[in-house]
Amino acid sequence: MNERGKQVVVLCSGGQDSATCLRWAANRWEQVYTIAFDYGQRHRVELEAAASLAKLVGVVEHRVLPVSALAALAGNALTGSDMVRTETNARSGLPNTFVPGRNLIFLTLAAAWAYQLGTSDLVTGVCQTDYSGYPDCRESTIAALSQTLQAGMEYPFTIHTPLMHITKAQSIELIRQEGGLELLAHTHTCYNGAVPPCGECSACILRARGFSAAGIPDPLLERLGRV
Ligand code: ZN
Repeated sequence: MNERGKQVVVLCSGGQDSATCLRWAANRWEQVYTIAFDYGQRHRVELEAAASLAKLVGVVEHRVLPVSALAALAGNALTGSDMVRTETNARSGLPNTFVPGRNLIFLTLAAAWAYQLGTSDLVTGVCQTDYSGYPDCRESTIAALSQTLQAGMEYPFTIHTPLMHITKAQSIELIRQEGGLELLAHTHTCYNGAVPPCGECSACILRARGFSAAGIPDPLLERLGRV
């Protein structure tokens, strides 16, 4: 790991994992920058949640970058008109919520901004433990991308992934330990973009299981008066 500087760039999607990463980073770096991506996601509530989290933590700057190329490719449930289903794509074996190349593009753009800021540290909430099997969330993918970014920009990046090997329940425990549990009241997880969350999509189910296993009520549901 490189020597830690004063600044860090956190990828902030507005979900509970990015909230956890944001609190974790704010406890470790003096100046936090957040970056979110407008890739034509059907649910603008995600971007609103990302901005709220950045404001609550008090980041130096929150930037939203347009990535319209992903919407132009479309063909998945998060950017296209497909309904969110829990079944997998027969060819790839991946859920239809998988957006090919998304994390690779996001991390590359975040690294480009970090380069401009003169910081080497990036934080992202990818996790290979109890996810949907997205190949761009695996540790081996992140390690390979980190090498590619360092080679391609001749710059010493470190991609921190504090959630990589922990379960959803452990990540909820982590944000509580980091003093940020209330941030989860301002996150958005539901794949159907529903507020209050639909409770039926795979993202809602995963979230509910995590809180149940952690033995902690979901602050989002508490804020919305659902518990
Ligand atoms: Zn849902």
